[in-house]
Amino acid sequence: MLNLFENIPLKDKTSYKIGGAAKFYSEPRSEEEIIELYRFALQRGLSVFVLGNGSNVVVSDEGLDGLVINLSVNFSKLDWDGSSALVSSGFSLDELAEAAAQKRFGGMEELSGIPGTIGGAVVMNAGAFNTEISHTLRSVRILKISTLTIETIPASELAFGYRQSAIKNSGNLVLSAIFDFKLSPDATQIRQRILDKREQKQPLDFPNCGSVFKRPPGNYAGTLIESCGLKGFKAGGAMVSPKHANFIVNTGNALAEDVRSVILHIQKTVFDKTGILLEPEVIFIGKFSFSLLDVFAGGVAGECPPSKAGEARPPY
Ligand SMILES: Cc1cc2nc3c(=O)[nH]c(=O)nc-3n(C[C@H](O)[C@H](O)[C@H](O)COP(=O)(O)OP(=O)(O)OC[C@H]3O[C@@H](n4cnc5c(N)ncnc54)[C@H](O)[C@@H]3O)c2cc1C
Repeated sequence: MLNLFENIPLKDKTSYKIGGAAKFYSEPRSEEEIIELYRFALQRGLSVFVLGNGSNVVVSDEGLDGLVINLSVNFSKLDWDGSSALVSSGFSLDELAEAAAQKRFGGMEELSGIPGTIGGAVVMNAGAFNTEISHTLRSVRILKISTLTIETIPASELAFGYRQSAIKNSGNLVLSAIFDFKLSPDATQIRQRILDKREQKQPLDFPNCGSVFKRPPGNYAGTLIESCGLKGFKAGGAMVSPKHANFIVNTGNALAEDVRSVILHIQKTVFDKTGILLEPEVIFIGKFSFSLLDVFAGGVAGECPPSKAGEARPPY
């Protein structure tokens, strides 16, 4: 029997704490059940969205008229074989980094504190401090959606790039992954240094989705946004963090459309001032009413932070 529910709010399944409900929602308990869920969706013509920890997504206020499969609950197994780890897709990336560091295994210390699952991290090729998850990845077991068959694919065939992988574009589902670690006597100290840096630099006291924009070539999104005076810019309950400009935080009751408005305002302002169009890293789920064309046509509603004396204000 399918572990399937209707009209489940997705708000609490994401780090942003924003968004509407999924028409159908499941936390499958086995690989067979996942396959059955895809058959269920196919029969009804439903779109399927695979959710990990929901730490890189903005869910539309209208929710999703499809099926959400959440693997973060029941797919969280970790087995060690020497310095290699076989990990289910719903296992926490940070807990894997911690378990490896405790064994004095290195390769993932720099990824400490990233609040995703292994599945989400592999798909996004999560990275920080010059380390990407693909650097330690040996292979993944995926469910191929076109045939509903399971295959093991070596990391070398996954076309990893900056926050990019072949899986992201294929829609296939990550079931598990194998990672190979190297000995690193300083692993726990490095991990702690990274966690301290995150605490210092990131607005972790507000719901957020991590870095909203990808790093543009030769620059940093946060630096560009800050230099355009946008720290503190607000639309509804969404605000450019005064602590880190590449974070848009939910100050309490933000709507997805507020986040989208802030994103568009940032894109327009940074583009007007620097000629650089920032590309979102965050993934949008469901329908959104704004488009980039809207913002170039006239801007979006928002509120600027208090101005410094004599500073000009944009009209929206
Ligand atoms: C405070 C904070 C700090 C962050 N810091 C970083 C950072 O330093 N570096 C970084 O790269 N990211 C960072 N992120 C973003 C995010 O944590 C990562 O992208 C993470 O890898 C996403 O994992 P997730 O399980 O939450 O995926 P989700 O957000 O649930 O999903 C992300 C994407 O992966 C897909 N997906 C998830 N699981 C699977 C699966 N099993 N099979 C197929 N597709 C799947 C989803 O469909 C979606 O397209 C941060 C986020 C926060 C909130």
